[in-house]
Amino acid sequence: MLTQKQIAWRLRKRLERLVKAAIPELAGPVYFVFSHEGVDLGWAGGCVCRDGDAIAREVYGKKWRGRGPTVFLKWDFHWEMQWIRGLPGDFIGWLAAGYHAIIAHEVAHLIADTPVFQPASDDALPSVEVVLETLRGPAAFEAFDQICNGHGVDYWRAFAHVAARICAVTGESGAKWMLNSEAYGLSGGDAYFAALGDELRELGASKIADILKLPPPASLFQLWRSDTAAIVKARRAKRLMAASGGEPCQ
Ligand SMILES: [Zn+2]
Repeated sequence: MLTQKQIAWRLRKRLERLVKAAIPELAGPVYFVFSHEGVDLGWAGGCVCRDGDAIAREVYGKKWRGRGPTVFLKWDFHWEMQWIRGLPGDFIGWLAAGYHAIIAHEVAHLIADTPVFQPASDDALPSVEVVLETLRGPAAFEAFDQICNGHGVDYWRAFAHVAARICAVTGESGAKWMLNSEAYGLSGGDAYFAALGDELRELGASKIADILKLPPPASLFQLWRSDTAAIVKARRAKRLMAASGGEPCQ
């Protein structure tokens, strides 16, 4: 029976291969570090850090391949099922599938170049302590709470393309579900995919970073803007209500 360490390595390699195959425009290494390897992600299922490879270097040891962004993944959201280790067949693939949506989310942050957690350090390679401080600091919580921070229209456009390409490689059909845009108070993935029109198919062979240089389809921009305006309006009303001592209407 495989140990936790062996499972983590097989999973990591599987996820690395997937990202390389689905999103080849990310030319350099992208590292994967799980929460039990030194980063507590109690507040999220995952996050990405451009300069988080100080931790990746420790985890990867001799397998570290030079500078590259690190995706941190929560380890334990399906690990209470210890019996899974005894399952026959490709159980690593089954486990990896549980991470596909989170990985698509984080890779989209890299491609859209929207704020990802960035250690405040001038060092060429920030220390492990600096990276941990960044990931655990108040900025991380603030970013998680701010719907628009890093999740603008370009971000959702990139995310849809990343999700579609991951699904094309894996044979999955859940690209729309992967967006999980409802969790951000937005319309569902169906609406965002519909708003992209034919772009996913027509530009499916282009680099996503190049697609983002083109203006977004008007329908996508309108959907995102009306969703975001509704969120801002609701939050403002809630704040005003709280300030006046009343309870916000549900
Ligand atoms: Zn995000």
